[in-house]
Parts: sequence; C-alpha cells; structure tokens
Amino acid sequence: MTASRITSTVDFEKNGRQTGFLRLPHSVHESAYGWIPIPVACIKNGSGPTVLLSSGNHGDEYEGQVTLMKLIRELKPEQVQGRFIFLPAANFPAAIAGRRTSPIDGGNLNRSFPGDPDGTPTKQIAHYIDTVILPLCNFAFDLHSGGSSLMYVPSALGTIFAGEPERNQRMVELLQSFGAPITYLSKQKVAMGSDQTLGASAARRGALHLGTELGGSGTVTPAILRLAEAGVRRALKHTRVLPEIAVEPASPTRLMEVGGPDYYVYTSESGLWEPLVELGDTVKAGQPAAAIHFSHTPWREPDIVRFEHDGVVLCKRIPGRTERGDCLFHLGTDYRP
Ligand code: CA
Repeated sequence: MTASRITSTVDFEKNGRQTGFLRLPHSVHESAYGWIPIPVACIKNGSGPTVLLSSGNHGDEYEGQVTLMKLIRELKPEQVQGRFIFLPAANFPAAIAGRRTSPIDGGNLNRSFPGDPDGTPTKQIAHYIDTVILPLCNFAFDLHSGGSSLMYVPSALGTIFAGEPERNQRMVELLQSFGAPITYLSKQKVAMGSDQTLGASAARRGALHLGTELGGSGTVTPAILRLAEAGVRRALKHTRVLPEIAVEPASPTRLMEVGGPDYYVYTSESGLWEPLVELGDTVKAGQPAAAIHFSHTPWREPDIVRFEHDGVVLCKRIPGRTERGDCLFHLGTDYRP
C-alpha cells in the first residue's frame, strides 16, 4: 500500500498551538492543481496522552462541530498536559455541504475505514486518520448526532469487545465522565457500521473511543450544546489532558445497550409516517410504533409497524416521508454485562 497523498501544514510533534489544513490533492476541472483544505488544529504541551477530537465525520451533524470550533478558540497551550488533535470538519466536503456524505464522491466517512490512499477523497481521509493520526492517539472522541434524518436522546456511546474486560471498564468510566442522560453500549458485531467506523479503527490502533449521538434533526439547540460542551470538558479532564479545567459535576447517566437487529424498527411500506410514540418513551414488544399512510390512496387503512422488543426509544426518524428500508426508531434496554 502506498503512503497517504495528504500532507499536513501542522506539525503534530511541535509544542504550542497550531492551526492549518490537511491538504488533499484534488485535480478537477475548476482547479487543476487544487487541494481540499481539511481544517486541523494541534495543541501540545508537557507530557501526557494524545486525544483526537473529531466532528463533521458526518457533515450534517452540527452539535460536535460547534463544540469543537469553540474549544479550539478557547483552549490555551498552558492548560494542556499532552496533545490535542482537532478535526472539527473531518469529512470537510460533506461538512460545508451540510450533508451526511461527501458531495464529491458520495462517500460516508464513517463507513470508509480503514480507507485507501488511492481511493476517493473520502477513502483517503479515512486512510490518513487511520495511518497517521490514530497511531498518535490514546483517545479518540468522535462527536456524532442524528444528523438530518434522525433525532437522538442525547447519548454517549461505545463498543464492547469480547474478552477485553479491563478495556471495556475504562471505556465505560470515560463515557460516564461525559455525563449524557443515556450512555449506550453495543457489542462489537452488532455495532452500526461494525468495522468501517472511525471508532473501529481507533480500537484497532489501541485508542480508547468515545462516541456520541448528541441530538440531530439537522440543527443545534442551546440545551444540547450546553450538554455537549460540558460533557467534552469532563471527559477531557478524565483523560488528564486538561487537569485543571473547571467542570460541572456529571449527572448520573443511564447505562443501556442496543442489543441486536430487533432493537431497530424499519418501515413496512413507503408512505407518510405517523409516529405513535415519543422519543424517550418506554415501549413493549408488539406495541404499535408507527402508522404508514398512503398518499396515493388516502382511503386505504394505514399499515401499522410494531416494536419487536421491549425498550426505551433512543432514536427516531425526522423526515415525514419514508421509503422501505428506512429506520424509524431504535431502542435501548438497561445494560447487562
Ligand atoms: Ca453520525
């Protein structure tokens, strides 16, 4: 495999605060010798762990992007014991388009790991993060939310690895320090995207991964941003990279799990969907989840979609129309190790 074609204007080994760009060569009609400027910041001081802070992995998930942009401006090198690497708009073409995926190549960065140095721009970004950045990191915080098509109860999340109890315990403690109302865990094989996510690459590189689903609906709210900003600060204090930073105490988090495919509710038909439960509701298997109405034949009885598992509604679809294959809800249940 060839090395990455991406170069960084920031030297990750240099002390102090640097801002610049990952330059991804992109020769197109409009710009023959051009490059895609992916913003990057590094703040390094003293000795301590390295933390990757990424957002905009999905470009339409804005809560993490706002949180990290503020943090880059606010943090001073003298507060840091270790190193921060910030990628606030990790899939930059997707982030400036306000889309989940890149308008250049259709790429979903969080389904592109471990990437390819000769691949599409999205594959090249994944490969650079996997081969250059993650090997430097002890921790990787990748801040997601529901984006345009989903809304979540604000959650921190992680993946449980079989046969690694010590590592799982450290991860749970890190997620608890974030202090989201819900912390949910997925077993490795069941986790969405499985081995193609930034979190999966972080695990292969030996970095402890903290994920989030901070809300969504393609917007930000003051309440969720407050939670995101306070949570990131607490988790960074927990890693000891920001030993002196003032934080509010974490609220207790409800530890849950997303057990398997039957925790997800998919639409039965294409149509206009009516949710029959609210986000955060506790539901039973067999309970009606949604009514699918048929705009072409409005007199036809709606189709009723039912939950297949007991649980708490952690996530719901946002757009009012739905096509077969769309996820309408997913559930969580209290975690049992
Ligand atoms: Ca996401």
